[in-house]
Amino acid sequence: MKIQVDYDLCESNALCEAMAPDVFEVDDNDDLQLRTDQTTDANLEAVKRAVAACPRAAISLVD
Ligand code: SF4
Repeated sequence: MKIQVDYDLCESNALCEAMAPDVFEVDDNDDLQLRTDQTTDANLEAVKRAVAACPRAAISLVD
């Protein structure tokens, strides 16, 4: 699945990074960066935890 972030909603609080640091990173400018925009067998559960952890509902998974 493809990982999409609504940057208008994101408040760069790094809760997703805490759940899935291989996928999400808040950079030195407080901007959220995606290390990859695709789920894999290895990261899917962590990405799902990140989706659940985001208080702004800014992360979506798209088939
Ligand atoms: S948890 Fe949500 S609001 Fe926080 S940095 Fe990640 S996408 Fe943005």
